[in-house]
Amino acid sequence: MSLGKAMIHARKQKSIARVAAAAHASEAVSPAHSNHILQMPVLVLNASYEPINICGARRALVLVLKGIARTEEEHGLTLHAQRSHVAMPSVIRLLEYRRIPHQTRALSRKNILLRDRNTCQYCGVVLPANELTLDHVIPRSRGGNSTWENLVACCHACNRRKGNRLLHELDDMNLMREPRAFSLHTSRQIMRMLGRGDDRWRKYLFY
Ligand SMILES: [Zn+2]
Repeated sequence: MSLGKAMIHARKQKSIARVAAAAHASEAVSPAHSNHILQMPVLVLNASYEPINICGARRALVLVLKGIARTEEEHGLTLHAQRSHVAMPSVIRLLEYRRIPHQTRALSRKNILLRDRNTCQYCGVVLPANELTLDHVIPRSRGGNSTWENLVACCHACNRRKGNRLLHELDDMNLMREPRAFSLHTSRQIMRMLGRGDDRWRKYLFY
C-alpha cells in the first residue's frame, strides 16, 4: 500500500483515533490538559530524517499506531488508553520515504493563517484562528481572485475598515509583507521558529 493510501486508510480507520481521543495522560493531568497535550505540535521527519511537516500529537499517535511512522523523540508523557500505554511523541519519522513536491500546500484558510502566523497582515495583531478572517487584497467585487497572492490573514476590524477598497485608495492601510505561495521554505521557517526552544526538535532543524 502506498503511503498516501495508507494515510487515507488511517484516517478512515477510526478505532485508533478513538483510542487516541479516549486516552488520557498520566502524570496526574486533568482531561482538559490531556486534550491540550493531544493538540501539541509534533515534528514530522521524512524517512531520510529531513523535517517535512508539523502535525498535532493526536494525528502523530495515529501514524505511529498504524505503523506508518515511528517515534524518534518522546515528549516525556505517557498516555493510558484502555490496556495500552503509549509514550507521547515529540518527533516522529515516516518509515517509507515520501517524495515532497516543491509546492504541495493546498490553498486553504488553515494554510493561509499558518503562512501568516495568525497575524493580521494590516495591523500586525496576533489572534486565535477563530478571531481572524481572510481578506482579498484586491476585493472579489473588483476582480480579485482567491489565490495565495491575493489572500491574507486579517482581523475583523481591519476587514471592515478596508471594505471594498483597493489599498491605494486607503491612506493608512498597507500590507506587512507581500503574500506568496506557501513553499517548503516557508514551512521550514515555521518549523525552525517553533523548534527554537525545544532540544528534541533542534537537532533535526538546525544543521
Ligand atoms: Zn488588523
